[in-house]
Parts: sequence; C-alpha cells; structure tokens
Amino acid sequence: MTKKYKRFCINCGKTGFSKEELVEGLCFNCYQEKNPLITLKKQPIIHLCKICLAIKIKKDWVKTDELNFYDKVDKLLNDEAQTYFKIDPDITVKIKLDKSSGIQDLLQYNIINFDVNYNGKVRNLFEVNESQIHSAKIKHDICENCKGYKSRVSKSKIRIIAKKRNINETEIEEIIKLFKDSANIYKDPNLYILSPILSKTELIFRVSSIDFARTIANQLKSRFGAVIRESVKFVDREKSKAKKQDLNILVRLMPFFPNDIVKYMNNLYYVISIHGDNVNCFDFKAKEIKKFKSKQIINGERYLPRSKLEKFIITAIYKDVIQIMDLKTFQTFEIEIKNQPHLHKINEGTEINGFREGESLYLIPFIIQGSDVKNE
Ligand SMILES: [Zn+2]
Ligand SMILES: [Zn+2]
Repeated sequence: MTKKYKRFCINCGKTGFSKEELVEGLCFNCYQEKNPLITLKKQPIIHLCKICLAIKIKKDWVKTDELNFYDKVDKLLNDEAQTYFKIDPDITVKIKLDKSSGIQDLLQYNIINFDVNYNGKVRNLFEVNESQIHSAKIKHDICENCKGYKSRVSKSKIRIIAKKRNINETEIEEIIKLFKDSANIYKDPNLYILSPILSKTELIFRVSSIDFARTIANQLKSRFGAVIRESVKFVDREKSKAKKQDLNILVRLMPFFPNDIVKYMNNLYYVISIHGDNVNCFDFKAKEIKKFKSKQIINGERYLPRSKLEKFIITAIYKDVIQIMDLKTFQTFEIEIKNQPHLHKINEGTEINGFREGESLYLIPFIIQGSDVKNE
C-alpha cells in the first residue's frame, strides 16, 4: 500500500503493478485471456446403458448402480480430463458432475452439466482457484452385457425384500457376493447377470438363466432362511413367435435376525438360529426349544433386537429359588426354580441375557445363547 508502482500492462494499460505482478508484460487477467489455463478440446460423451446404468466414457463398459453412479462417472471423466481439455501444466483439474438430477431422470436427458475446478500456482506467480461449467453429452445405449441378456431365450428376475424392515448393508453385501461366487462356480459362458437394482427396501437381480436363478434362490434360502415364491410367465416374443419362459422369484427375508426376540401368535420367542426352511426358537412360555417353519414365523414380528437385551447375573441358588441381579439397575429378584426348568444346573456367577416386560422377567437359557441348534 505504501509503495507506488509505475509498471503497467501492455495490453489493457492498467497501471500500478510491481515487476512480480506482470508476466511477459501482461497483468494476470490479460495473460489468462491470451493463454487460457483450460480450454475445451472435445465435448465428453457418456454412453449410458438404459437397462442397467452401466457407463462407457472411452472404451470399456463399467457397471454402476444408483448408489455409486455419480462417483464412477466423476472418476472416468477425471481420468480422461486431458482428452477433453487442454490444461495448463501449472494447474490441476477436478471434474464433478451436477448431481441435482436423479439418475432415472438421466435416462430422459441428452446432456449433463459438470463443474471443472482448477487450481494451482501459475508461473510461480498467480494463485488460481476457479471453476467453469461445461456439459457432457449423454448417449442412451445398451451395454454388451445387456445385449447378451436381451438375446437370451428365457430370463429371470429375482426380487429380494425383507419383511417389515429394510434390507441392511451386511445383507446387501452378502447377497451380491453370493451372486458373484455362484456365477463363478456356475461356469456358463452364456450366463448374464445384470447389475442389481438397489434400493433400501428391495434388491432386484436379472439373470439370463432360469436354472441359475433357481440355484441362487435356494442358496439364499439356506443362508437366510428366506421364503421363496416362484411365478412363471409364458411370453410370446414378437420376432420369433416361439413360446418363451420368464421366471419371477420373490425372496422374502425374515423380519428378524438370530438372537432377536420375536413375537408370534401373541407369544414371545428367542431366535436361536435361522437356516433353510427352519427357524429355531426358545419358547419363553413352554420353556423349551421350538422349531418353526420359516413360512409361518415370517409373519411374526421383531419384538426386541438383540442389542436391546439386558444382562443379569445369578447371585445365589437356593433349594427352591434362584436369586438374580439386573446388572444395570443392581436390582435383585428371586425366581422359583420350578417355574424355570431351563435354568436348572446353572451356577452362581453365571451371566445371562434377558429382558423385562412389565412385571415379567424373561431369561434366555445360557446353554443356548448364541448356539446353533441343528436340524435332524
Ligand atoms: Zn492487462
Ligand atoms: Zn446394461
């Protein structure tokens, strides 16, 4: 502020610059005008598969889904930034798509805007951090995988839902892995599996083989104790006039998990294990293990998740009663042994899970806590 500089820009004539503020005699504005830091060479084209949302920006198709679509496109555009822009070597460029529209909307649009942020120190003089908006063309296409799938004679759709709850992330990961592993083992070069359509409430897979669909449905059943329903559709496909079969499989996961408390037909049960067609439970009323068919107990409801169970400890055992303490409130209770035959042979100091509901205390026999009752 105190020094007065006399230097001026040879282009716009503005004065008051120091030696360091001019490059090749130009102020930064004029320098940038004559040597743009970034210029568009070629508009990007995004090929978007209208069936499965796969994208191709330069060469290969890349699978995406509703959850990772924008991240994957951003990455491909950034990888190819030099193809689309002439970029001054002193700056780095970051491309980000405009995420304001839903992915389903993109199936209607032919164009999408993106933001190009560029920053760096130009000619060791000017710090730049600026943005420009550009646009990419969207071309609606059908990816290789979907082309193969479309040409299959029969197709199958597997829709997976969880009853009365959302499918959780662990389940989604496990299911996607199960499909991948099974496809590898299946070794059918004509098998096509489209990218799953993911949402909180359902997962939809489309596969080109009815046999594979059935195999995978059975695997889902044995892994999750899911309930499966098949419906077959015979379709006349216009071109060939041949009868073709489409199979829809609905896979319903249980509304609860092992170690949860379930309410079914007005009775409370502790879920010991779930597999295949069976759900093994401890019946709090009958004080014994009970086996349910998945098909029945899927109509029950998750009464208490395992994380809400409380801990108790056996503090003393007398002839007819057991003394027990709630480890959170330190409140003690005495319960008659004859009412809790499942607690026989328990030792003092044993910790036990349970919960209280009003006046009632429900204890989960420690011998079966977390254990797996196999089917005979
Ligand atoms: Zn100037
Ligand atoms: Zn596709």
